[in-house]
Amino acid sequence: MKLILFDIDNTLVDVLRFQNRAFEKAIKKVFGFKGSLEELPYFGAAKSVKENIRDLCEIHKVKKKEIFEKLEEAANQVEANLIWELERREEEVLLPGIEYLVDRLYWDGNLLGIVTGNSLNAAIEILEEGNIREYFSIFACGDEALDRVGLIKLAIERAQEKVKRQIPKNQIILIGDSKRDIKAGKEVGIKTVAVATGATSLKELKEAGPDLLFEDFSNWGKAFSLIKKL
Ligand SMILES: [Mg+2]
Repeated sequence: MKLILFDIDNTLVDVLRFQNRAFEKAIKKVFGFKGSLEELPYFGAAKSVKENIRDLCEIHKVKKKEIFEKLEEAANQVEANLIWELERREEEVLLPGIEYLVDRLYWDGNLLGIVTGNSLNAAIEILEEGNIREYFSIFACGDEALDRVGLIKLAIERAQEKVKRQIPKNQIILIGDSKRDIKAGKEVGIKTVAVATGATSLKELKEAGPDLLFEDFSNWGKAFSLIKKL
């Protein structure tokens, strides 16, 4: 059994257009300016909702005190807006091969988890929209830790509590679409798999030095066997 931790946005699903609308509406309502995730490097990949709100506000010169006072409200608005958007969407949200890859990894006896900057509620809604909620039993989300490294460590702790034993680091894999995911995984000392289905190119991801690198998971059978051998 391996513990396999997935990032959500642009790794499992493409819901960036909904995330963007959710952010724009929340920022407008709470802070009164027009701001977009597109203004952030790599659309704010591998950062929490609150970090992205803070970064956007700083670009738009919102005072620190105002950011601090309204951050919670804005994050709650993003979550509510995102769930509203997802419930009304008609498009497919899963990225190529994901439903098969996740299914194979699960039935192969691995423990699957989520490490994401989304809130837990938003994460669960996204997974439900993709019909893959049932495969995941470990969650580390949003601002439960200070950064991605902290979230990965938290997910590992929770997994170890669940299986009631230590899981060796060489049996833990992080799968993500951004350099921040890969760097964080390496910092924790676990295996990393990069997939270029987000804003980061294959070439840039390669520079981060993941153990495996994929353009996407459309050839999920091959991805499954390579991940199994890691
Ligand atoms: Mg991502």
